[in-house]
Amino acid sequence: MSGKTILKLAKVQDSSIKGRNIVMRVDYNVPIDKGIIVDDTRIKASLKTLKYLLDLKCKVTLISHLGRPKGHEPKYSLRPVAAHLQELVGAKVYFASDCIGEESKRVVEQAKEGEIVLLENLRFHSEEKKNDADFAKQLSEHGDFFIQEAFGTLHRAHASTAGISKYLDNAIGYLVQKELEYLDRSMINPARPFVAIIGGAKVSDKIDVLYSLIDKADTIIIGGAMAYTFLAAQYSNVGKSLVEKEKIEDAKKIILKAFKNDVELLLPADHTVVKEIKFDSPKEVTQSMAIGDNWIGVDIGPRSEMLFTEKIKMAKTVFWNGPLGIFEMDAFAHGSLVIAQAMAAATKTGTVTILGGGDTLGVIKKAGISPDQLSHCSTGGGASLEFIEGKNLPGLVSLSQN
Ligand code: AMP
Repeated sequence: MSGKTILKLAKVQDSSIKGRNIVMRVDYNVPIDKGIIVDDTRIKASLKTLKYLLDLKCKVTLISHLGRPKGHEPKYSLRPVAAHLQELVGAKVYFASDCIGEESKRVVEQAKEGEIVLLENLRFHSEEKKNDADFAKQLSEHGDFFIQEAFGTLHRAHASTAGISKYLDNAIGYLVQKELEYLDRSMINPARPFVAIIGGAKVSDKIDVLYSLIDKADTIIIGGAMAYTFLAAQYSNVGKSLVEKEKIEDAKKIILKAFKNDVELLLPADHTVVKEIKFDSPKEVTQSMAIGDNWIGVDIGPRSEMLFTEKIKMAKTVFWNGPLGIFEMDAFAHGSLVIAQAMAAATKTGTVTILGGGDTLGVIKKAGISPDQLSHCSTGGGASLEFIEGKNLPGLVSLSQN
């Protein structure tokens, strides 16, 4: 998937939608604790398109999933989102306790132009994930135009993301446009040097993106638990750190490909290590890349922080996905926080900084950095990685092409 496909997609601002009944797929998969929305970034990200539609006197029916419910599980209800959205958007938001059937039809019908209806969690119906045609059709009957605004689910072929667009004229919203524009810009013709930072725990999730980045980036920094699989691939001692043994061969291939392509592949030069993963465990910093037998790597060390910060300073484009340590525990968050600060500083001097993935967003929040201090914070980790890998995103290829 690349810029060419995206250029052909209809955009909300170019579509004749004045006064129409819109069905919009949003990604309101937000953390909710006892009815309180803990992080509303994804809701706020949809506001630009929503306000545009309300100004055009559209009636907007919003559809979304929340979590991974097994059938109808009340704790996964989207009801708390309706009240929160009403406050944010300043327009009436009705809530329907199902996304299909009589009740939903009645609520949608009673809403007037310039008002919003949020339908209950799509995943309360197993047909959603099966991309069931009849379920998709029923969803489509809530309106006469479909807007794709759920960037975080574009890589899923579900009824509300892919199936539905067959039944309605459609377009992409402002959020999807911005996400694609930044990812496209960084991947197709990035300002150089282009530095990619890949962290997190699962090498298996990020193998394909690493292969793809080797064709595009000038420098790839690998941190987090991922780094230990790569160090093991170079026969470096990693102690008891997390290693995906079955991915060591892949790591070797990536190291070789980077070498052949003349791409700089940087692993941490030192590590913060502990004997037990506990917040009050005594910490040590290693003298080199190697980790002693009984130690576990939990964060990058100070020399790595300096080295990586320098690389960010020299870059013109930086893409970052995945924390560089167990950032959820304050004691092991330092490396990730330093990198977050370096990203914000680089943005000020004109570097294009792009960040993807829920955990990485968690890092910048912990660092006290707001998303607008970076060029772009993607709302979809999985979707952004699959886009970079060059895969077709079902939520886009199903849309009409101009
Ligand atoms: P991922 O979903 O692959 O992006 O992984 C994110 C997770 O990686 C976070 O929950 C981090 O706590 C974890 N992580 C980062 N560094 C390490 C490490 N050195 N050891 C274990 N887990 C880590």
